[in-house]
Amino acid sequence: MVPNGREAVSPETLLQIRNLKTYFQLPEGLVRAVDGVDLEINRGQILGVVGESGCGKSMTAMSIMRIIPPPGEIIEGEILFHGYVNQDATNLQEVVDLASFQPNDRRVRAIRGNQISMVFQEPMTALSPVRTVGSQITEAITLHRQVNKVEAREIAADMLDRVGMSNPGDRLNDYPFQLSGGMRQRAVIAMALSCQPQLLIADEPTTALDVTTEAQILDLMRDLQAELGMAILLITHNLGVVAEMADEVAVMYLGKVVEQTDVDSIFYAPKHPYTKGLLSSIPKLEDALHGDRKKLQTIEGMVPSPYHQLSGCSFHPRCSEFIAGVCDRVEPALIQLEEGHSVRCHLYA
Ligand code: SF4
Repeated sequence: MVPNGREAVSPETLLQIRNLKTYFQLPEGLVRAVDGVDLEINRGQILGVVGESGCGKSMTAMSIMRIIPPPGEIIEGEILFHGYVNQDATNLQEVVDLASFQPNDRRVRAIRGNQISMVFQEPMTALSPVRTVGSQITEAITLHRQVNKVEAREIAADMLDRVGMSNPGDRLNDYPFQLSGGMRQRAVIAMALSCQPQLLIADEPTTALDVTTEAQILDLMRDLQAELGMAILLITHNLGVVAEMADEVAVMYLGKVVEQTDVDSIFYAPKHPYTKGLLSSIPKLEDALHGDRKKLQTIEGMVPSPYHQLSGCSFHPRCSEFIAGVCDRVEPALIQLEEGHSVRCHLYA
């Protein structure tokens, strides 16, 4: 449990990540996969986390779940989870710092898969190919809820029904290979939601699906989020998905959050040069409709090698607004521009 003396937080706060660092000591060098991340999620909120591959989005999620693959480990920071003790959300729990326990500590296991669940890009990451869908969902339920096997099977069938599976009673007896990709992802969402988590982490949940199935799964997640009142941490590289789903957006670059604000401000008033670059690389429908075949804008240069620690702002070799002598020497801090809008850039210091 978190020591006494912490400042009071809003009752709406569900998860606070503070200065989280998750590093990998590899033979080739040290990889700072998550390098001082600060994030906050409120109850019932959808927070979109965006950025290019390798920016630390997934590793931040794995750090919250405490499922970091070896040799990665949390070397600093806090993951404060303000969960409820009981399912009807009437009793506030003491704050738990998930970063302060071993990954297999009973307090982490009691929260993982129960109060915090995760859906991965590839459903077979979560499903065993040799067991029926029903046995896997009921196992997740009996692990965390005080119900017998018959009751757990009823809950599992109800969840499959809620995620839009036809004949849910029959589907319980199916093996994952008997389901389509979209159905498998629905089954994984049913399993993740079967214990009514307060936070669902969805890591590129629709990237492997065709666009029609993607739209159905996103609709489903939004409906279930509204119905169950859970928060969602939605990790994606797709800004269209973020525009459609998120209330709040955090933009990550090389293991750090470089901008966080509400979804409208990200799209209509972005501040960080990297956020602006990401937005200008989205193809515009109106250009296509007007026959305007403009070359797509891209962000200059490549994401640097993860083994190479840059001085100053980690975005400076690619930044169009780079200030020589400052950006390459001094690391910018995350500063609050206005209520609810923070940015990590010297232009606003
Ligand atoms: Fe660009 Fe400098 Fe801002 Fe970094 S700190 S994003 S290099 S202007």
